[in-house]
Amino acid sequence: MNLPEWTIWSIALFIVFVAMDLFLIYGIIQSINEREDRAVKRLGLLLLVLVVAELLLIYAGVLLNIQLFWVLMVIGLVILIVLILFPWPENKIILDEGEPGRIDERTIMFSRNELIPETQNFNEYYSDYPQHRQTDDEFRKSPGLMNKDSRFYHPWVFPAADASFYTVAALQSRTDGVVAKTKQDFDPEKLERFVRNWAREMGVHSIGITTLKPSHLYSKGGRSHNYNEPVETTHTLAIAFTVEMDFDRVAASPRSPIILESSNQYLKAGVIAVQLASFLRNLGYSSRAHIDGKYQVRCPQVARDAGLGEIGRMSLLMTPRLGPRVRIGVVTTEAPLPVSRVNRDPSMIRFCQICKKCADTCPAQALPSDDRKITNGALTWTTNQEKCFGYWCQVGTDCGRCIAVCPYSHPDNFFHNIVRLFIRISPIFRKIAYRMDDWLYGRKPPSRELPDWMNPKN
Ligand code: SF4
Ligand code: SF4
Repeated sequence: MNLPEWTIWSIALFIVFVAMDLFLIYGIIQSINEREDRAVKRLGLLLLVLVVAELLLIYAGVLLNIQLFWVLMVIGLVILIVLILFPWPENKIILDEGEPGRIDERTIMFSRNELIPETQNFNEYYSDYPQHRQTDDEFRKSPGLMNKDSRFYHPWVFPAADASFYTVAALQSRTDGVVAKTKQDFDPEKLERFVRNWAREMGVHSIGITTLKPSHLYSKGGRSHNYNEPVETTHTLAIAFTVEMDFDRVAASPRSPIILESSNQYLKAGVIAVQLASFLRNLGYSSRAHIDGKYQVRCPQVARDAGLGEIGRMSLLMTPRLGPRVRIGVVTTEAPLPVSRVNRDPSMIRFCQICKKCADTCPAQALPSDDRKITNGALTWTTNQEKCFGYWCQVGTDCGRCIAVCPYSHPDNFFHNIVRLFIRISPIFRKIAYRMDDWLYGRKPPSRELPDWMNPKN
């Protein structure tokens, strides 16, 4: 049956309306699953307003009974949608400028936290870096990580997290080992495929390979096994991978579940890295796993160069599908694997330039609100690590509030991935999206309650 032309236009309008309504309904269902109560209410309100507006327009169209009305409505809606979602040209953005200098691992907060007053390392460190003495004396007055007197002390969760860190520490003696005498010949592409698939099977979310650059390596070691020793390697490549952090536990940050989740994922990344490095050594190629407490490399920079994401405002790796809600594992190797093809995504840096949600939410005001600057030779955002770690020592956890509120940290599902896709391609949608994220989830979302099973009183 041939429909009259005006009916085709009205049906087209009806289909566009239904598609928009269905997307919102899907968003509501996802938000219920994610226990995002505020988003459920606000998406519900949006749906109600949209449906009323649609019904009014349909009613007006029926009353007027003019074909031109439907035509204008459909064309107007399509133009509006295209305007919002179109990849309009943008000013060129500088992704990298300068080559970062190597960092002395002794300067990172974990190393400084391990210094024991009046020992040789302690005195030497503050003679090399006198500018750190005052801030470090301050955090030493606080209870400290997973301490009984810290604000978010939990009688079970802290010991559980400690158990995970204890288990990671047990892996530290396995990061390196004996290399098989005979080097096996193999097709590098096929070996890379094997490594990638096996790693995914072990729970890796994303994986890539990069050439190992001098700037990836610390200049000097900062932990007890290599304190003040030069960091050197013969390895030419680095395999970087991410493991996902649980959304609910990150959302409870800075309360105790965050440190349970961090320790769990450090352990998972550590196990996988040790397995991969051992596997490559069995094939005859010197390889080393870089795991919690025994890194020689700066993981976010390695992962960025391996194509896993960009370094965002909070100086962490931002991945396309999980944002910063990941932990990173690295294996350095001399195995001749193919380097991953990297497609840099400038939209993440652009989004960070306008969003600033992490900086506004950080309880320690440790994150910058201005644009990237040249620091240590390269264009980047820099976290004030003294303020950040100082806060950790008060609350007893590794905080993670910045990770929790980041709009990229939402779960990896169709609803959020559609939003991420249009953030990537459309500058207009990007501006709408960060305001929508504030409206739906709050500019400073409250941290979630602990699940019942973590409550000793339930
Ligand atoms: S919260 Fe916003 S500014 Fe901060 S890292 Fe995430 S996207 Fe960037
Ligand atoms: S972990 Fe906490 S204190 Fe540190 S930068 Fe993020 S929000 Fe701030």
